[in-house]
Amino acid sequence: MLKLAVLASLGTVALAQTSAPGTAPNASMMRFDVKAMDRAAEPCNDFYQFACGNWLKSNPIPADQARWGRFNELDERNKEILREILEAAAKPDPGRDAVTRQIGDYYAACMDEKGIEARGLSGLTPELDRIQKLTDKKQLAEEVAHLHRSGVPTFFDFSSGQDFKDSTLVVAQLDQGGIGMPDRDYYLKDDPKSIELRQKYVAHVRRMLELAGRSPEQAKTMADTVMRIETELAKGSLDNVSRRDPEKIYHPMKRPDVTMLAPSFAWEQYFADTKAPPFQAVVVSYPDFFKTVDRLVKEISLDDWKVYLTWHLLHSEAPMLPSAFLKENFDFYGRTLTGAAEMRPRWKRCVDYTDNELGEALGRKYVEKAFGGNSKERMLKMVAALEKALGEDIDKLPWMTPATKKEAQVKLKAITNKIGYPEKWRDYSSVVIKRDDAIGNAFRADEFEFQRVLNKIGKPVDPLEWGMTPPTVNAYYDPQMNNINFPAGILQPPFFDSTMDDAVNFGGIGMVIGHELTHGFDDEGRQFDAKGNLQDWWTPVDAKEFQQRAACVDDQYASFTVAPGAHINGKLTLGENTADNGGARVALMALLNTIGKDMKKVDGFTPEQRFFLAFGQVWCSNEREEALRLQVATDPHSPPKFRVNGVVQNMPEFQKAFSCKVGQPMVKQNVCRVW
Ligand SMILES: [Zn+2]
Repeated sequence: MLKLAVLASLGTVALAQTSAPGTAPNASMMRFDVKAMDRAAEPCNDFYQFACGNWLKSNPIPADQARWGRFNELDERNKEILREILEAAAKPDPGRDAVTRQIGDYYAACMDEKGIEARGLSGLTPELDRIQKLTDKKQLAEEVAHLHRSGVPTFFDFSSGQDFKDSTLVVAQLDQGGIGMPDRDYYLKDDPKSIELRQKYVAHVRRMLELAGRSPEQAKTMADTVMRIETELAKGSLDNVSRRDPEKIYHPMKRPDVTMLAPSFAWEQYFADTKAPPFQAVVVSYPDFFKTVDRLVKEISLDDWKVYLTWHLLHSEAPMLPSAFLKENFDFYGRTLTGAAEMRPRWKRCVDYTDNELGEALGRKYVEKAFGGNSKERMLKMVAALEKALGEDIDKLPWMTPATKKEAQVKLKAITNKIGYPEKWRDYSSVVIKRDDAIGNAFRADEFEFQRVLNKIGKPVDPLEWGMTPPTVNAYYDPQMNNINFPAGILQPPFFDSTMDDAVNFGGIGMVIGHELTHGFDDEGRQFDAKGNLQDWWTPVDAKEFQQRAACVDDQYASFTVAPGAHINGKLTLGENTADNGGARVALMALLNTIGKDMKKVDGFTPEQRFFLAFGQVWCSNEREEALRLQVATDPHSPPKFRVNGVVQNMPEFQKAFSCKVGQPMVKQNVCRVW
């Protein structure tokens, strides 16, 4: 969903195979805590170590995790709450309300390992047979539409979203897709690590096909075929840095133009079979990709396409298949790609799947149980304080001319916010959920979601819709809605803590608010106006100033090495790094505006010092090398250590608060400052 929309989130917990065995950490352990610090470290040499050193030492990565940080701790606690809700809901009590019954039965079916084992591949047989029965390449369109409706991502992506240049319209969107590894670069780079990963991927595809009943020889040939097709799709895809440029992924076309672009694929058949409502306009992200699609449909035999589609079906449904498939799936996507040593316990995976598929039904119960009533009020006050600080920051910017400042203020004033959970809950009552059909439940829930997204085409935009579920430990800015969004899941310690003073809360959730607001003005967000349209509101001279300043941030982060041979991609992470730097600055301004001259020390630290410590501690995190490599290749967020040190290096306020001296590592010679 929303692949073409440029949602800018706070982080990517999902990358971490979140959750550990054992009991959830209790809330008191998760608060801001001076005991988490390494007081022997010198804050001006390595602030991250100073703020987090003790925590890092005493919180090794659990076996089933790719990384372990404070985000994960909180996510873990949310999962425990969701587990309680789901286990109670799963009891087949005839008195259950409809929502409880639906999430409970979904979870029960997912947890029914015995039943899943006994049914083997039978739940997939009709789907596998459909693919085998194709007799003509013309039928590919029909089959791909059917797979897309069933939630199997393959070949390309079809969805809906707001038009970049008229944010009041919801249009049909066609995007690149169809690969099984995390990014197109995994197919194209020729360093030893990438070559090794490709070999492991082909071996994984082969083993999955063997598990599905193919002979080792057949499976080997088939895996090579999958690799050949996916490599061609990858070559035809746009790289992830270019995809951050909205102009590069915006190619509006009339519906017949799509057929002209790729005539060998039966588009009209495809659109009809997706059951999309009538539409005339389609936004194609990257037309060259669909030229590749056209060429491949011509060049590749029907038998090879059957192999490719079979693999994607198996891959997509692996989580609901018997344990042999699960283990094989984990071996590549967990162990090889993220470094996790063990699969997460089943209940955690089933909690995640319920959240993915029936998110607002589960979220509704989560909010009833876990979201405190006064959190929203306090959040609104903090949002107001942050918005005021950003307004002052814009006014004082030395490099921006009054004309652009005026426009920036218009945009800032137009930003709306959503806090906690949706005003109107999504209705899943049409989704049939059966206690003995995990895979069928997944297909039906995916079909509901696919249809729901397509049904928006041609309808007015719904500003109340959420892009994240309530228990999610994350937040986002949506440039087309021009709004900031904070799910209930993040409004807890260590981010938001009613027992803590302002210094800690502004360093935590205050920084998060500042981060999301700044996304409206990062290299991507700045291209959208107050109404969410891709429209330039900058004078050329200010745009040039912005780009120079952004280039400083790009260079700074590109100089950080995370593992041998692996660096942060300064261009991929530019928006997030800009948001981190701007967010911390305006959060500190908002704190000082709020507390005035009250500089009372707590635990020997001034409010400014506690602000930076709280900011640092939000990011305390241990990572496996594999996870770091995956992160810098695919994730627009920098790894935690650099999110902290990269920011404080640029802040004279930090250097003053900790009496740092010129020449120390946390004092950057040429400070980068955009906002
Ligand atoms: Zn962000």
